[in-house]
Amino acid sequence: MEKEKTYCHHCGTSIDKGSHYCPVCGANQDPNVNKERKPFEFSKEDTQNSLSVSSLVFSLVGLLLFYIPFAPIGLGIAGIALAKRNESSYSKAGKTIGIVSIVLGGIALFAWAFYIIYLAVKMANPC
Ligand SMILES: [Zn+2]
Repeated sequence: MEKEKTYCHHCGTSIDKGSHYCPVCGANQDPNVNKERKPFEFSKEDTQNSLSVSSLVFSLVGLLLFYIPFAPIGLGIAGIALAKRNESSYSKAGKTIGIVSIVLGGIALFAWAFYIIYLAVKMANPC
């Protein structure tokens, strides 16, 4: 009597039912292992990783644009908001740089305000 066949969950090759490993790709056919390795969980992890990396990038760009008012504040807030979604080391770095960006943005904003006041005063009182 012919052996019962099933398909490899990884590569789709027809394999003997009850095989522990796929002879073609070597994937573990144990249903308990498959349960732990749901593709959904992988994509969720990937999303969290890309979120924390983008928080880092947002915060760093904000830091680099510190001389432009509002840009570092907006980017810093975006970085912190993204970093809040998980607790990886990237997120912690993103959060810290985001705070520094906002502080520098605040300083830049004050500097611009003083510069505009200075120009306005100069225009009002030409020597
Ligand atoms: Zn396979």
